[in-house]
Amino acid sequence: MDFSLTKEEQELYEKAKTFTKEHITPKAHELEKKDEFPADVVQKAYEAGLMNLHIPKEAGGPGMSLLAETFVSEATGYGCAGIATSIMCNNLAFAPLVIGATIDQLKKYVQPLITEKEPKFGGFCLTERKAGSDAAGVATRAERDGDEYIINGTKCFITNGPQSSLFTVFASTQPELKHKGLSVFMVPKQKGVKIGHIENKMGQLNSVQSEVIFEDVRVPQDCLVGKEGEGFKIAMMTLDKTRAGIAAIATGVAQRALDEAARFANIRHQFGKPIGRFQGISFKLADMGARVAAARLLTRYAAWLADRDLPVSKDSSYAKFFASDAAMENATDAVQIMGGYGYLSEYPVEKLMRDAKLLQIYEGTNEVQRLVAGGAILKDSINLDTGFHVEYDGKDAPTF
Ligand SMILES: Cc1cc2nc3c(=O)[nH]c(=O)nc-3n(C[C@H](O)[C@H](O)[C@H](O)COP(=O)(O)OP(=O)(O)OC[C@H]3O[C@@H](n4cnc5c(N)ncnc54)[C@H](O)[C@@H]3O)c2cc1C
Repeated sequence: MDFSLTKEEQELYEKAKTFTKEHITPKAHELEKKDEFPADVVQKAYEAGLMNLHIPKEAGGPGMSLLAETFVSEATGYGCAGIATSIMCNNLAFAPLVIGATIDQLKKYVQPLITEKEPKFGGFCLTERKAGSDAAGVATRAERDGDEYIINGTKCFITNGPQSSLFTVFASTQPELKHKGLSVFMVPKQKGVKIGHIENKMGQLNSVQSEVIFEDVRVPQDCLVGKEGEGFKIAMMTLDKTRAGIAAIATGVAQRALDEAARFANIRHQFGKPIGRFQGISFKLADMGARVAAARLLTRYAAWLADRDLPVSKDSSYAKFFASDAAMENATDAVQIMGGYGYLSEYPVEKLMRDAKLLQIYEGTNEVQRLVAGGAILKDSINLDTGFHVEYDGKDAPTF
């Protein structure tokens, strides 16, 4: 296994680190107070080539590996998880199309968006008020009418919703079939597509989420991605891949929390010495460092598997829940290490704590990630031979 990048990808990673230092980290706190879409930074990120990395070359994109994408997401996440989410959201929105659409569909609907002078955005529309973790329960309907589909329904929590020109919409074509009746459509912004309530959040204030309402929206047949009934499968394949991106942003947050806490522990003196010299603090730093290292490796391993089309479901779930838990724990520890200063909004770490919380929730909560991973472990273990032979249902052994 080799996590090294190509020359082109390595250059992009270096660019992402410099971009973060110059344009994200110094501005993130100030921008957060405005609680709006960070249009200026995102425009610069687009010009620097940090967006739409996964779009294949045949459809006008850079065709970068998922591994490279995780390096870039970690770098931008280090500066601000909210800005990283705004920049990287197209990766989620367009991933179902890269997975399920034909190159001709990508050329027609996605290529024009990624080759414009100004950045254009996609909205990934799965969640509804009554269908969150239970994605198969969506009520949005798509009904066939001649060679068109008519879409009706309301989605919520849609990242970059108000900014989006193209929506990837999961809608039921046969509700009686539950998840097997779910289909996915590309829906360009048009009459009948409305932006509803803007969600008010605890953290990641440098990203915007809204309801997106579809009222009798007509799309031609070639807006269907894959076949009717393939929506749930495409959604799961998408999230298997994109979870590594969230894990990467989380790794960036976890690293930032460690760096800020370590810097403070070196310069803050109490009882006549730097607080970092107290074992209680240095042990915390050691645990934080180990979490970052483990999160990074799990993330890169998941991306490496996905790039080779190897089974990745379990490992991307590990990466997502471990890295986001690491981000939350490291942010909480950093606040503790910085004492009262950690709690003040003038200092960097209280924002990290608010931002980290979301990483445990969106793109599949960490409970759902554990369901995926736990289910895979049980499945893998059915025919497992550990070398120690005992009949669990035998005469002298416990029966279950
Ligand atoms: C800021 C933000 C951005 C988002 N961006 C998008 C986006 O761009 N597009 C989009 O479609 N969605 C988006 N989401 C939605 C997000 O993916 C959902 O919030 C998430 O999947 C959880 O769904 P829910 O909020 O309805 O919680 P619920 O599914 O109602 O879960 C509530 C609680 O129950 C737990 N739970 C549920 N089922 C189980 C189970 N079987 N076993 C154990 N525990 C369980 C959950 O883990 C959670 O703790 C976003 C959300 C937020 C907050």
